[in-house]
Amino acid sequence: MTSRFARLLTLGCVTVTLAALACGSKPDLPERVIFVGIDAADWDVMRPLLEEGRLPHFAKLLSQGATGRIETFIPLRKSPVLWTSIATSKLPDEHGIGGYIASTASGEAVPYTGNTRRVKAIWNILSERGYRVAIVGWMVTWPAEEVNGYLVSDYIQYETEKRIELDRQTYPDNLFEEIDRLRVTKFDVTDRDIESIFPVDVDLQEAGIAPWQKDYVKMIWATDETYRRIALYLNEKGVDFLAVYFNGIDSMGHAFWDFRKKEGHPLQHVIDNYYVWIDGVLGQFMDLVDSKTLLITCSDHGFHGPRRGPDGGLLVGVYMHGRYGIVGLMGHGVRPGSHIVGAGILDITPTLLYAFGLPIAQDMKGKVLTDAFQSDYLRAHPVTFIETYETGERVVGEPLKSPVDEKIKERLRALGYIQ
Ligand SMILES: [Zn+2]
Repeated sequence: MTSRFARLLTLGCVTVTLAALACGSKPDLPERVIFVGIDAADWDVMRPLLEEGRLPHFAKLLSQGATGRIETFIPLRKSPVLWTSIATSKLPDEHGIGGYIASTASGEAVPYTGNTRRVKAIWNILSERGYRVAIVGWMVTWPAEEVNGYLVSDYIQYETEKRIELDRQTYPDNLFEEIDRLRVTKFDVTDRDIESIFPVDVDLQEAGIAPWQKDYVKMIWATDETYRRIALYLNEKGVDFLAVYFNGIDSMGHAFWDFRKKEGHPLQHVIDNYYVWIDGVLGQFMDLVDSKTLLITCSDHGFHGPRRGPDGGLLVGVYMHGRYGIVGLMGHGVRPGSHIVGAGILDITPTLLYAFGLPIAQDMKGKVLTDAFQSDYLRAHPVTFIETYETGERVVGEPLKSPVDEKIKERLRALGYIQ
């Protein structure tokens, strides 16, 4: 063997070793991240269903993912406050979304709108850094703001009866025409569509079930089904970050919780049935997870039914929410079967930033859920920090009135949130 040949061999080995260090032993970042928000999902409610094997995809998340409970704000806050904190890692006083209904400078009661949010959401931060995003149905996102990709605001769900003349339901504006065929209104929903959830074949009058209860299930299901279809459609466009929000578990909880204890009542299993349906939806997003994808799911709070106030009276609305919701991660970089301890709703945005290899801002109030990740992944990708993402001018305004305001208030009354 000539010395030159030996040297080449050595060089070759060195090259191979370096390549292994660069690609093989150092895990890459995920190529895309999918987020599924499930309002009010609660492990305690799911437990009997998991034991019966009725939630195969949540079971898969538990066995193959990293899971735990996630703590909401105490005292309890309403869902728009929470989902805005989830998207920003900022406290309610910082992000400015205080509930469902805001009051304008002139004292009018108007639903909070996205333009009143004072800080950047995860989709703003990712867009600014060139990532392609698709955001579907997230609370308080109308009017749809400009992103690098697609944003479908939560106001499209209120078009249940007829087309509302309303700008900026989506970004870009003309996305609305594209997704219009995917929208489901409560009038499109047949009894067959909801038969796995609601007892459509029972004589409602005989069973003492009010007709509005079936209509309510159709309306709630129509919204989630619309978001499901649109999110799967936008996924086809090849985005780096896909986020979708489902409200149905929360709405079902508010309307049907009391029936859970009524043995043999036709409405006893409506909430359980809805969980089973959502489990299937989660499964469809899990099916998109390949070796380069990270999936994150969470709820904003748990659900434990009505509580009594100091005067002994039944408290409704926000008091039905529980302190602990769910969190789960699965896919690229995740340590299978690991338990996440001490998670809070402010931790979601830092964890999403971490997944993109971006620094966490020191003015964010949450932390990266490092429990969820493999140790070699954590070693290869240490958590980094910057001072803030709140650079540039964010134009913040008064809540905007729209033709759907009355519908929103109607729904909030049905949920017991407002009088
Ligand atoms: Zn909620």
